[in-house]
Amino acid sequence: MFYKSTRNSSVRVTSAQAVAQGISEDGGLFIPESIPQITPQELKEFGSMDYRQRAKAVFAKFLTDFTEAEIAYCVDGAYNTKAFDSDSIAETAELFEGVYMLELWHGPTCAFKDMALQILPYLLTTSAKKLHSDKKVVILVATSGDTGKAALEGFKDVEGTSILVFYPVDGVSAMQKKQMTTQEGSNVGVCAIEGNFDDAQNGVKAIFTDKEALEKLNAAGMMFSSANSINWGRLAPQIIYYISTYAQLAAEGKISEGEKVNIVVPTGNFGNILAGYYAKHMGVPVNKLICASNANNVLTDFIKTGIYDRNRDFHATISPSMDILISSNLERLLYILTDGNDEKIREWFGRLAKEGRYEVDGDVKRRLSEEFEAGFCDDEQTKQTIKSIYDKYSYVCDTHTAVAVKVYGDYKARTGDETKTIIASTASPYKFSASVLSAIGEDAQASEFELVDKLAEVSKMPIPASLAALKDKDIRFKDVIAKDEMASYVLKTLGV
Ligand SMILES: *Cc1c(COP(=O)(O)O)cnc(C)c1O
Repeated sequence: MFYKSTRNSSVRVTSAQAVAQGISEDGGLFIPESIPQITPQELKEFGSMDYRQRAKAVFAKFLTDFTEAEIAYCVDGAYNTKAFDSDSIAETAELFEGVYMLELWHGPTCAFKDMALQILPYLLTTSAKKLHSDKKVVILVATSGDTGKAALEGFKDVEGTSILVFYPVDGVSAMQKKQMTTQEGSNVGVCAIEGNFDDAQNGVKAIFTDKEALEKLNAAGMMFSSANSINWGRLAPQIIYYISTYAQLAAEGKISEGEKVNIVVPTGNFGNILAGYYAKHMGVPVNKLICASNANNVLTDFIKTGIYDRNRDFHATISPSMDILISSNLERLLYILTDGNDEKIREWFGRLAKEGRYEVDGDVKRRLSEEFEAGFCDDEQTKQTIKSIYDKYSYVCDTHTAVAVKVYGDYKARTGDETKTIIASTASPYKFSASVLSAIGEDAQASEFELVDKLAEVSKMPIPASLAALKDKDIRFKDVIAKDEMASYVLKTLGV
């Protein structure tokens, strides 16, 4: 299996190169040149395996330049009960008949980002070794809140790496900020920028392709890589939980062999839902992929009209990890839906950079609407949804997951579709205690940790130990910079 660049199909690299480099030099994203298949028989066999065994089997299809031992080292190092509070790694909870919450937040930082960022450091350091690179890998991260902490936790004190995280100064929850600014480890850095997530992401992408910065880095024996979902090493691990969950539900008799399911994903950068698309095209029987957005509904409009237009107000919502107007991974989907037409991708994404808008052609629109449904909701509807599923099912979900539940409810009411459904539950409600409590109708005027205790009383869910421990930690990182200072900040921090 080789990987191409979405902006230049003649680029051809191994998975180790794609993971180590993070993004192609032409600004494109690395993408497998074909989608490997899982036969119905294999899928059935997955039913009697555990998460690690399933992960190894799926990775073997994508990382064909890795040895079996290398894959096993990565998987066993990442997916274990030292890091995750459940040996299933991802849990499913039946919300009501035929609707399953895929809880992806049982990892160390309580958001689904752990599913990929626990293993990415293993994939990356293994890739660097395979390429005989003795360069120090500098991970740059732009975060809307959850990626930053998950990446810091994954890379802290990993030999041969250092990591620098940028977050929007007013764009993350109190708990997310506390998680990042108290991060321990000798190779970590965290900095706020005066701007939103898109600014942070654009800044990081610009540094990756900044010739002068790259030369300086190279001379100092370092190289950049990315822990954002522009890195294929983030995407591949996310495909696994959809495959694993389908196999698990089938093995438990909750769905019958070959039965189609819907997958609903609260979406920001389009990474998690793209992983669902890959699972489907590898062989998981999927009916609709349902893309759920908050008030930043650029993707809803795009899926409905084929016009991507980021020229609109940016909303800071109670689901901050989805406050994104430039969804990077859409580039990969469009590359697939144009059958690898890199010229079109360059044209569209060139327009996006210049004019903030592009329109795809008729064939792509048709293929989009065959595969995807889309919807959005605002903060008020998000809160109502948290309350209504708490009242009805005694289930407490976070603000992002609630967006997905709401959009799914609207979809079902509109279509009458009774297909069994998997809803990606992307964060622990404890990361957003204030919003969740006020949605349920509790007083949310208290310190973050008092709110956590209160949420425990209400939800009867155990408080994640990693969040409870933050209470006594010192703030280590206080820098706030302008968005155009990112490149110089990086070079200064690295001392080059
Ligand atoms: C990152 C994140 C999302 C959005 O996922 P994408 O892969 O960026 O679409 C949704 N919910 C939570 C809690 C997240 O952290």
